[in-house]
Order: sequence, then structure tokens, then C-alpha cells
Amino acid sequence: MLALKDFTFDELERIVTEDLGLKAYRARQIARWVYKKGVSSFESMTDLSKPLRKLLSERFTLDVLKPLKVEVSSDGTRKYLFGLCDGSRVESVFIPERSWNTLCVSTQVGCPVGCTFCLTAKEPFVRNLTASEIVDQYIHVQRDVKDARISNVVFMGMGEPFLNFDSVKKAVEIMTHPCMLDLSARKITVSTVGIVPGIRRMALEMNRVKLAVSLHATTEETRSRLIPLNKKHSLYRILKALREYPADNVRRIMIEYLMLKGVNDSTEDAVRLAGLLKGLRVKVNLIPFNAYPGAIFEPSPPERILEFQKVLWSKNIAVFVRDSKGKDISAACGMLRHRSKSACH
Ligand code: SAH
Ligand code: SF4
Repeated sequence: MLALKDFTFDELERIVTEDLGLKAYRARQIARWVYKKGVSSFESMTDLSKPLRKLLSERFTLDVLKPLKVEVSSDGTRKYLFGLCDGSRVESVFIPERSWNTLCVSTQVGCPVGCTFCLTAKEPFVRNLTASEIVDQYIHVQRDVKDARISNVVFMGMGEPFLNFDSVKKAVEIMTHPCMLDLSARKITVSTVGIVPGIRRMALEMNRVKLAVSLHATTEETRSRLIPLNKKHSLYRILKALREYPADNVRRIMIEYLMLKGVNDSTEDAVRLAGLLKGLRVKVNLIPFNAYPGAIFEPSPPERILEFQKVLWSKNIAVFVRDSKGKDISAACGMLRHRSKSACH
């Protein structure tokens, strides 16, 4: 059985016309049921004939995730735990804002990168998610939140998107196609730890969506301490790739910078960061560190974050402090895990 949500619109059209011998408009009809109406069975597709519904259900599956649990934070953030067909689990987070709603999706079960500050990295890496498993996070959450429409998607959950580029690219195509989820590409952000070939590939194949890069340090030494992969994809190489990236004022690159007490949060770091980013079209997001039991780092005090921000402002760099939501349910940045103690067995 094939997962129907693994197919882009062009692929779906080809299946419908070439494999099933139907008229091309059937692809639009099926896509409307799956993505606009969010149905979970072929039986519900009432404008398709009974034999066609039967044929589709014999060949394809629709839902690939099983919702296991939803936790709701006092600030309205909702954390979802999903089961996959092989028994693995992933989490997604819905973050309601005043005028938009963001969904944070996972791209892998665990993460092989092993950043020393990240809780996801504390558990073993299991596997990449398929495109349908990424897209299904959106569909399940949209079903659950009903009228609160998801307007933005950030690839900032578990996993490193650029180590699963093909599935992420497919998921983005499904999310942006007018006959499918029809999100504006500018409302989608892919965050990478800085996989250089991934940044180059995104520049060529996926540059309509926004790029976010987790820089987190201003020297190679500090960055290698935080992100072991920096030995291969160094700060220097990342910045070089960003200089060649097709950014403009509308499509600024987001630079994510985790604020760790006494590690990367000094005034010298802020000055150095401004120097490194000179000439790039960027927006800096300072991320307060979300501590957890056993963490080897501490969050920078709020006054330090403000001071750091002031230095960047004074150098004409757009800089914002990320508002960490859903802390009480461990749904904030870097708090997602697939072996959650709270998981149902
Ligand atoms: N793998 C990608 C995307 C997922 S992580 C990446 O690393 O960019 C999304 C963001 O959460 C990254 O910027 C990451 O550095 C940050 N993060 C990880 N652990 C965190 C923590 N404990 N507190 C705050 N942010 C964290
Ligand atoms: Fe993976 Fe990103 Fe966590 Fe690093 S911060 S371990 S790349 S999920």
C-alpha cells in the first residue's frame, strides 16, 4: 500500500491518468478531499463512484500518523504526540498567536546531529520521516484545531531538515500547491543547523520558503563545543554559503542564536556577530535557552539578552527575542522528544 500523501500534485495527476486511466480532473477532486476537507477515508469522497473509492482504498492509505496525545499549555500552545506505523513517535507543536497560528513540525525521529544543548539529541536517532508523515502532522493538527487555521509552518521540531532534504522538499511542495494545502511559501520556514550542501540546494530548489540557520556562536571553537558537526560545516563555510544565498529584503535569512550564559552571550560576542553578518540580508532571532534537568548549559539572564540585542540594534541589525511558548508542557524550542515519559504505551 502506498501513502497517498507522499505524492506531489504532479505525481498524483500521473497516477490518476496513467495508472488508473482516469481523467486528470479526478486528481483535483481527490486532492480537495484529502487536503482541503482533511477526510480520513476514501469512503467519505462522495463525488467519486463507489468502485473508484474501493479501488483507491485497495491501493492507497490516507492517514499515516496515529494521534496518541494532546497536551495544552496555559498559553494555548498545543503539543501533539503521534505514533508512526513502526511504533516510533514524533511530536508537533501548535502555537496560536493573536493574528496567526504557527505549526512546528518534526522531520526525523530523534536527530543524529547531537548538539550538546538539545534535548532531542539525548535520545537515539531512529529514522527520517517520509513526506506523508510530515504533511500528516499538519492535517491532524488542522482537524483538531478546526476554525483556528494554521497559517504558518516552521520546520523546527525534532530532527535536521537538511538531512532529510527530499522528504522536506516534497512536503513543502504539498503544503504550497494551490490544489493541496495552499500555504504561501513565505509562511513556511525551514531551520537548519547549518548543513552547507543543504543551504546550497535550498538556494536552487526551494528558495521561495524562508531559510533559518542556527548559528549560535561567533567563533569556531565555541560553535564546535555546541554543535559537533561544526568541524565539518564550519561557521566560515556556512557564512560563505549565506553570502551566495538569494536573499533580499522580503526574503531575509533568519539567524537563530541561542543565548547561553557565559558561553556565547558577551558584548564581544554581539560585536563579533554583527561583524560576521555585515552585508547579509538577515534578521536575528535570539532564543532564550530552555533548560531541562541534566542540561549542561544555563540560560542567559534576561538583562544580558537585552544588552546583546541593543548592541546588534546599534549596528543596524534587525534583532528579535523569541518568545518561548508552551514551556509548561515541554513544547518550547528544543524540548521535543520521541521517548516522552508521558507517551501512551
Ligand atoms: N535541527 C534544526 C531544527 C530543529 S531545532 C536546527 O537545529 O536548526 C529548532 C531550534 O531550536 C534550533 O535553533 C535549535 O538550536 C533550538 N534549540 C534546541 N534546543 C534548545 C533549547 N533547549 N532551548 C532553546 N532552543 C533550543
Ligand atoms: Fe538536531 Fe537541531 Fe537538536 Fe541540533 S538543535 S540536535 S540539529 S534538532
